[in-house]
Amino acid sequence: MNKIPQTCKAAVLEEYGKPLQIREVFIPEVEAGGILVKVEMAGICGTDVHQQKGDLTIKAPLPNIQGHETIGRIVKLGTGRVHDAGGEHLDIGDRIMWAHADCGECYWCEIARDPVLCARRSGYGFAPPAALRGGFAEYEYITPATKVVKVPRELTDEEAIGVGCAFRSVVAGYERFGKIGLQEDVVIQGAGPIGLYSLLVAKESGARTTIVVGAPQVRLDLAKRWGADHVINIEEIKTTTERKERILAFTHGRGPEVVVEGSGVPSAFNEGIDMIQKGGRYLVLGQSSAGLTSFMPSLLTSKCLTIVGNASAAIPHFYKALQFIKNKRTKYPLADIVSHKYQLEQINEALANMEAGKEIKPVIDNRGR
Ligand SMILES: [Zn+2]
Ligand SMILES: [Zn+2]
Repeated sequence: MNKIPQTCKAAVLEEYGKPLQIREVFIPEVEAGGILVKVEMAGICGTDVHQQKGDLTIKAPLPNIQGHETIGRIVKLGTGRVHDAGGEHLDIGDRIMWAHADCGECYWCEIARDPVLCARRSGYGFAPPAALRGGFAEYEYITPATKVVKVPRELTDEEAIGVGCAFRSVVAGYERFGKIGLQEDVVIQGAGPIGLYSLLVAKESGARTTIVVGAPQVRLDLAKRWGADHVINIEEIKTTTERKERILAFTHGRGPEVVVEGSGVPSAFNEGIDMIQKGGRYLVLGQSSAGLTSFMPSLLTSKCLTIVGNASAAIPHFYKALQFIKNKRTKYPLADIVSHKYQLEQINEALANMEAGKEIKPVIDNRGR
């Protein structure tokens, strides 16, 4: 392993709405239990586009380093950090992924035992440059309180990178939702990473017919390759009435038992409630903006619906998502989620293409550095 430098390059968000700036930043000292990694691959998320523009509901202080879905290769292990969360030994050179650090002491961590809801989570992707806790950089620092999981050796970075945000959230969402009944019909709204991974879990849970509603065509093509029985392109079938007619035709005229929302579009919620079968269940995963929509609450009572929401995940969900990929990698072309690889210096181009809807999962690929 090469000597660790004192500084490294990072893309820094200095002003909301302005391009990220490539800066030389200091690499922090590794404390007991901390880990320093070389960033191998960093996923770029829809959230990053909103964060850069400053339209997230929570605005992190500036400057900060973005990037919250990262695969890092360990270059230094702090004293006492010997195992990952799955009990596997950690060594220099291992690839790891990590969750936000839960406090372990609040009501949500200790009594509710639901660390996804931790009141004092310390996150990655919005900390100041001195902390070096963002993936849009050459190195990243993992704090002692952060749980990590080793990326199984047989997985490529391309296969694993989707676990860093979308897939672990999908695993956490289904866990909250409960099982899909055998031979139930499932509609997935949205064909981005959340929708695509939701499709996989629905299929592997025993769904009968899976239907993905979204755009653009390149994402729907991947949904087909990942086993969707039907896809509906919202750029071609533009009205909710026409889309509902199609879905009813695929679901015995009753609508699906289960709808999973992964689109992030507020009005998709109404469409989901409208198409779902009486007595059906709705898993809402994609909504993260402050956008509003109006809807008629009596539909919940008249149709006897169950609605479950979820955002983010904790370390067990990373572990399970990685195990899923390890065991299903020959069945589905999982690496195809990566639509484009960029260099760190091309970060602003990558964010622009993400915003323009040209990407599925774009990544910063540092492996050649
Ligand atoms: Zn993300
Ligand atoms: Zn907590």
